[in-house]
Amino acid sequence: MVEYKCLKCKKVIKLEDLGNRVRCPYCSYKILVKLRPKVVKVVRAR
Ligand SMILES: [Zn+2]
Repeated sequence: MVEYKCLKCKKVIKLEDLGNRVRCPYCSYKILVKLRPKVVKVVRAR
């Protein structure tokens, strides 16, 4: 899952929520930073 962070309001927006315009849906700011996908390790307790 690709996520972006708005540099102005610091909210995280998913790529699917952006649609085809790269603009923050919360504050309409145009500069978004692509976040690195987190590597989630699943550790199973035995
Ligand atoms: Zn914003």
